[in-house]
Amino acid sequence: DDNRAGGSQIWFDGRFIDTADGEAPLTTHAMHYGSGVFEGIRAYATTDGGSAVFRLPEHLQRMRKGCELLGIPFDVAAATEATLQVLRRNGHRDAYVRPLAWCGTGSIGLDVAPLSKHLMVATFPTNVHLAGAHVRLGTSSWRRNPATSLPPLKLCGAYVNSILAKHEARQRGFNEALFVDDQGRVVECTGANVFMVRDGRVTAVEHRDALQGITRDTVIALTGAESRPVRHDELLDADAVFVCGTAAEVTPVAELDDRRYDDHRVALEIAAHYQRVVRGDDARYVHWLTRV
Ligand code: PMP
Repeated sequence: DDNRAGGSQIWFDGRFIDTADGEAPLTTHAMHYGSGVFEGIRAYATTDGGSAVFRLPEHLQRMRKGCELLGIPFDVAAATEATLQVLRRNGHRDAYVRPLAWCGTGSIGLDVAPLSKHLMVATFPTNVHLAGAHVRLGTSSWRRNPATSLPPLKLCGAYVNSILAKHEARQRGFNEALFVDDQGRVVECTGANVFMVRDGRVTAVEHRDALQGITRDTVIALTGAESRPVRHDELLDADAVFVCGTAAEVTPVAELDDRRYDDHRVALEIAAHYQRVVRGDDARYVHWLTRV
């Protein structure tokens, strides 16, 4: 109702601010050390004319885990309310939702106890579909953050690892990077999980250093895919490969290094089913939708 013309607003520590007015002090701890936790969530216009957030509780529970590790208080119920409020306020039906909790100011040391803690939720309209924008994957020379050093959660600082891999991939003419471990097992991409298709069978790549993707879990539920460790050479041998994530949805991989894949039928079928699910068109999965 109070939707400002031209710009959207951000929920910030319990109030709404214009996006252009959002500022953080230069001494913000999270900017210096990466001490923040974020989520990437999507809302979809549903076919009944409304809109809904897809698997909101799962996203916010994951965020709570990250916040707990970093000593940032996080109230799932309050974050749920903030998310729904900012979506309503901005009138975004198809939207990418970005909550961020972070350590602010009060000290320049590494102890987070004396620092102020903050939460924001921003929404971005997403009418663009990545489906069709095929992924050209290059195997990264970088290793994924090992779970023994950085747990696979959405901790801000951890994403420098993804940024390095993405930057390298771009420089080499790819548009996405594939992380592989020292034993040649596939981990994940910079912001998406990996699947392969072989003789019509769908397999989800499992790795302890990979984020437990909510889209990955969704695709496993929709397809009955098996989940297991997968070697890099199995991926090169597969009939097809696809990636999935909240932002990527379900996207076929067109190339991996020198290998090209051209049969994207299974991935595109799953992508289409995923669209029906997130838009409330499959009655079996409407429990995954939080109505805005
Ligand atoms: N891996 C990484 C590193 C990611 O950042 C993401 C995006 N959150 C994913 C996988 C996919 O996770 P989800 O399906 O929960 O968005």
